[in-house]
Amino acid sequence: MNSLICTPITETEAAPFLAAMTEAEAVADAIELRLDYLTTDALPVVLHHLRERITRIGKPLVLTFRPREQGGQRDVSLAERQEFWRNLPPEIVAGLGFADFELDLVESFAQAPPPVPWAKVICSWHNFAETPATLTAQFERMARTPAAVVKIATMANSIGDCLPLLDLIERRADRPVIILGMGLPGLLTRVLSVSRGALLTFGALRRGAESAAGQPTVVELRDLYRATALSRASMILGIIGNPVGHSRSPRMHNAALHAVGKEGVYLPFEVLDAAAFIRDFVRPATRQLDWQLRGLSVTIPHKLAVIPQLDFVDETARVIGAVNTLVVEGDQLHGYNTDCQGAMNPLDALLDVRGARVAVIGAGGSARAICHGLRQRGADLTIYARNLDKAQPLADEFQTKLAALEQFAGQTDVVINCTPIGMHGHSEGQTPLSADKLHGIKLVYDLIYTPQETALLRDARAAGCQTLGGLAMLVGQAGEQFRLWTGSEAPLDVMWQAVG
Ligand code: NAP
Repeated sequence: MNSLICTPITETEAAPFLAAMTEAEAVADAIELRLDYLTTDALPVVLHHLRERITRIGKPLVLTFRPREQGGQRDVSLAERQEFWRNLPPEIVAGLGFADFELDLVESFAQAPPPVPWAKVICSWHNFAETPATLTAQFERMARTPAAVVKIATMANSIGDCLPLLDLIERRADRPVIILGMGLPGLLTRVLSVSRGALLTFGALRRGAESAAGQPTVVELRDLYRATALSRASMILGIIGNPVGHSRSPRMHNAALHAVGKEGVYLPFEVLDAAAFIRDFVRPATRQLDWQLRGLSVTIPHKLAVIPQLDFVDETARVIGAVNTLVVEGDQLHGYNTDCQGAMNPLDALLDVRGARVAVIGAGGSARAICHGLRQRGADLTIYARNLDKAQPLADEFQTKLAALEQFAGQTDVVINCTPIGMHGHSEGQTPLSADKLHGIKLVYDLIYTPQETALLRDARAAGCQTLGGLAMLVGQAGEQFRLWTGSEAPLDVMWQAVG
């Protein structure tokens, strides 16, 4: 059987449960009916419907009736579970694809014929707290049962927990397996397991309908990560950071890979310890995973921490003092910073900054990348900062003028906001410069991309300035990364559409 994306149905009432089944038929390869989610009144209604309809459902069905202590939604004893499966109407038993029996249930049927033929039984085991060191022994115990499929799902508390889980897939011999790490650090297993031989992976019908933590939606698995179209030879890219759940990079890079016809995937990797991740997952000589990892985006808090791990750091990244892009070149790891080029490309397209007076607002990481790019282009720079002592080293390094933010009085050609003032979730609606100071300025560039139009940009437009939003830099730096990893020009319009 080909690898599948299976959607769990997690509604509690009969009508929405049946409606969700119809919806799932349209988007998933297989459907898991989580009968344990149903209320006592709804369960017989759904079973009656199934009995009538099961032969007409176009997708393989997995039936599950999980007890609460094993992560299910129902308080049922082992005896009650045995009775449930024994009483299942024969039409349903004949029509279902698989029945998910927890390991204790499988073992309880070891001496007697099971109510569902072993050829249809998934033997499952879940650990919602951790991925224990005893994983292999657990797998071997399950593999000794007569069940057709072995399923193990454990909590991945860190990305390192994905390694033993993916290793289990290699041990599957001739028996299909379903192996998953729960939680965001386990996403890697949910996307890659099927390309490495697992029978299926689970995708929720929609956000909020997940049957376990960290479960992506079926549409994400199918259209964003293209999980079932991947193979062992697929190029792997990703972003390391913490947090990474909010990152827009997977949307941009996966859309770009698809648009240029490159077989590959770009994944968010929630990484706490960059050095350990590079040792175990990235460096070809030491990594414990046999995969075609080509490169990584590097974000907060790892942009500095990765530098000692690299064999080569390019000139721009050295000057900026941060690496946002890692490329695996043969046995070596190379570091780059594409923020500078990514920020400058859209600016260069609008204006020649040579000799122009440019006010850089803020003196943090992005200001450093901007100052480097502007210095190279011969702009006349002034940094405006709230804390002059903190900003002085940056002004010294790039030989710029330095002034207090409240002293900004206009009289400049370009303003670039490199602070978070005005950003969604920080200070949306606020602006670092009052509107009356913007008259006569040619171009106002705000690096913030949420919202796309900040209060600063709105005021600037009203004052007759040309404006540029942060999405241009976001897409620009991602485009430079894409070129470094793939050697192909990035489809910037596709990337823009994916995040715009
Ligand atoms: P950072 O390293 O933390 O630097 C932020 C700078 O803003 C610091 O100089 C900080 O001053 C200053 N600042 C913060 N709050 C301020 C306030 N209320 N008043 C005055 N100054 C304030 O951050 P970053 O990495 O440079 O990022 C800055 C912003 O750029 C982010 O919010 C993000 O939206 C945007 N960005 C966009 C892209 C893109 O691709 N479009 C890329 C990177 C960053 P202190 O040192 O005194 O705290």
